[in-house]
Amino acid sequence: MNIHFDETALRDTQVVIDTEAIRFNFRNIKEMCGDNTAVMPVIKANAYGHGAGEIARVLHEEGAVYLAVATLTEALELRALSDDYEIFILGHTPDRLLEKVIDNRITQTVFSYKQAELLSALACGKGVKARVHLKVDTGFHRLGTDDAGELKKILQLPGIEAEGIFSHLALASYEDDMEQFRRFMNMVDELERDGFRFKYKHIADSIACVDYPEFRLDMVRPGALVFGLKGFHKGHIEIKQAISMITKISQLHRIPEGEGVSYDYCWKAPRDSVIATLPFGYADGYPRNMRDKGYVTIRGIKCPLVGVLCMDQCMADVTHVPGVSEDDIAVIYGDGTDNTMNIQEASELAGTNKNEIIARIMARPVRVYY
Ligand SMILES: *Cc1c(COP(=O)(O)O)cnc(C)c1O
Repeated sequence: MNIHFDETALRDTQVVIDTEAIRFNFRNIKEMCGDNTAVMPVIKANAYGHGAGEIARVLHEEGAVYLAVATLTEALELRALSDDYEIFILGHTPDRLLEKVIDNRITQTVFSYKQAELLSALACGKGVKARVHLKVDTGFHRLGTDDAGELKKILQLPGIEAEGIFSHLALASYEDDMEQFRRFMNMVDELERDGFRFKYKHIADSIACVDYPEFRLDMVRPGALVFGLKGFHKGHIEIKQAISMITKISQLHRIPEGEGVSYDYCWKAPRDSVIATLPFGYADGYPRNMRDKGYVTIRGIKCPLVGVLCMDQCMADVTHVPGVSEDDIAVIYGDGTDNTMNIQEASELAGTNKNEIIARIMARPVRVYY
C-alpha cells in the first residue's frame, strides 16, 4: 500500500484519509441509485472517525443534498463551518434544545406529537417553519411511532413542514426486512390517502441500499459505504476503504530472553528480542483487547503487539525485521495489502464490527487528508 506520512504534522500517530476514495465511493453510490434517489451521507461520530469537517466539505462539493448526523452537537459543529449545508439530525433532540434546531435551520427527526407541538410553537413565534422528517417505528423499537393518528396530528400543526418520512431496518433477515418495509409503505399509503405528501421517503442504510434496490425510494442514508466499508453480501458496488492509520517507532529495546514487557510483565520474551515502542494506545481509540492478537506492519512484515496496551503507547516484537530502526513507519490499519491489517480484520480480531473500529478512533491522532 502507499504510505502517506506527513512530516509536518505535530504527531507521529496519524489517521490518513484518502479523500479521493470518499469521492469515488460517493459517486458510485449515486450512480448505483440513479437520478430519482437522493443520497444523504451519514457523517455522525466525527464522520465515522474520518473527521466531520473535512468530510462534510468533500461531500458537499460532490453534491450531497443533506448531511446526516446523530446529535445536535454534531449538527452545530457543521453549521459553524458553513451556512450552505443542509443538516439532518437522525436522533432525538431534548425539548429544551429545540430552539437551537430552528435557529440553525436544522432538519429534525420527530416521532411524537408533544415534541412536534413544541417545535411548531417555537417556529410560529419566529415566523418560520420547523422542517422535520417523521420517524415510523416498523419493528426496530429504537425511535419512531406506529400510530398513524399521532402522525396525522403532527402533520396538521401550523409551524411544521414535514419534508420527509422514514424508518430504519433491523437487518435481522430478508423476510423481517420485507415485513418492516411493508409496514412502512402501509403507513405512507395511509397518510397519502389523507392528502399528505412527502418529498423524501427513506428506509435504506448502507447494507439495504446495496442489497435491496426496491427499498431505495426517494432517498438512501449510507454511512459505512461512503467510507468504503462493505457489510453486504448480495449486491455489488465498487468502493475503497478511505482510512488508514500509521505511526513511527519511538524507541528500540534489545532485551534478553525471559525479560518481561509492559504492565504486569504479562508477556515475557521467549528468546533474545528486539522490542519497538510505538506512540499510540487505547486513548487513541485502538482496542485494548488487541493484546495478543493485534499487530502492526513494519517494512512489510507483521509485528505482533506484545504485553498489555498502555493508554498512549504500546510495544511490538520486531526481532524478525531485518534492518529495523527507530523512526521506521508502522502501519496500524492499512488497506490489507503488503501484510497490513485492514478495518475488516481489525473488527474480527477485536470482536466488534467495522463501524466501531473506525468510530472509536479519537480526536487525538492527527488527521491527514490527501
Ligand atoms: C447510522 C445510521 C445510518 C447509517 O448506517 P450505516 O450502516 O453506516 O450505513 C442510517 N440511518 C440511521 C437512522 C442511522 O442511525
